[in-house]
Amino acid sequence: MRLHCRLLLHSVAMAGNTGAPLVLRLVAASVSVAEKAGAIVRNVFNSGELGVVEKDGKNDLQTQADRSAQECIVQSLSRQFPKVTIIGEEEPTGETVDESHLETRLSEEVLKVVCPQNLQSVKDEDVVVWVDPLDGTKEYTEGFLDHVTVLIGVAVNGKAVAGVINQPYYNYKAGPGATLGRTMWGIVGLGAFGVERLVPPADKRIVTTTRSHSNKLVTESIEAMQPDEVLRVGGAGHKVLLVIEGKAHAYVFATPGCKKWDTCAPEAILHALGGRLTDIHGNALQYHRDVKHPNTGGVLATYSDHDWYLSRMPESVKAAVKP
Ligand code: AMP
Ligand code: MG
Ligand code: MG
Repeated sequence: MRLHCRLLLHSVAMAGNTGAPLVLRLVAASVSVAEKAGAIVRNVFNSGELGVVEKDGKNDLQTQADRSAQECIVQSLSRQFPKVTIIGEEEPTGETVDESHLETRLSEEVLKVVCPQNLQSVKDEDVVVWVDPLDGTKEYTEGFLDHVTVLIGVAVNGKAVAGVINQPYYNYKAGPGATLGRTMWGIVGLGAFGVERLVPPADKRIVTTTRSHSNKLVTESIEAMQPDEVLRVGGAGHKVLLVIEGKAHAYVFATPGCKKWDTCAPEAILHALGGRLTDIHGNALQYHRDVKHPNTGGVLATYSDHDWYLSRMPESVKAAVKP
């Protein structure tokens, strides 16, 4: 069965004062910008010069692709939406902006939809855009290319309301003829576009979690879910996509480490389809501009049966992973 599987067309219009509500214009710009950032991620990999820097040890890396994709997204959006707060994962490099990295077109596909009533009169000061220019950097450096996503999340008054995910290497194993890369987007109250959901197997429980940031708490909480299969893969965006697409029943990450820019876009798209993303206690995540960046209460994402996973979370883990 396929749900919500409308194809995202790559037609674009020139940016301008379209008169569309701010949230729609932001998503329309973010779709075009995320595609450009995805192309940058591929170009850097093809160049063979990843320029890897350790931010906080060998498990917290930054590459030239993270830096250039961040420049593309933050510069492109801030020039079009100068009054909107944009928070990106990477520190600005201080170097002159490479104008060839900028993208100012708007996706027509987005501008065609009707903005949900409650988001029609959102103002610049109500919005925070959370940017992860490259989610799954460790996997990117190790060649697990389909784990990589570009994430642009839109929060209004502290809630994730819209998201864009570009997966630059979608289809990269499919061979010649297959279109490389895809973009998915969604708005809570409207739906999601560019994703296909298959119903996950009913006779087994598949749980997905981190590949490179595991610890005792992660292991204990996964065991408590009594999974038949555990998918240890990279990227928060990639793992939420597995849940959305029915390849996993739940994404369980019972430890701090994941940040607001990792969850804002995936949460909004999952929520737009009827799923839930919370901390491991069941609390909603907050996305105000002055919120602390780490998701200290961990992450739990499901398409259904969220309360069951919350009820299985060991008390010892909950005591150690406080919101
Ligand atoms: P993973 O599932 O390991 O790919 O992590 C999802 C996201 O959270 C990625 O952006 C990681 O960089 C980030 N993350 C998770 N745990 C940590 C950690 N211990 N240190 C730094 N970043 C982390
Ligand atoms: Mg990330
Ligand atoms: Mg990142």
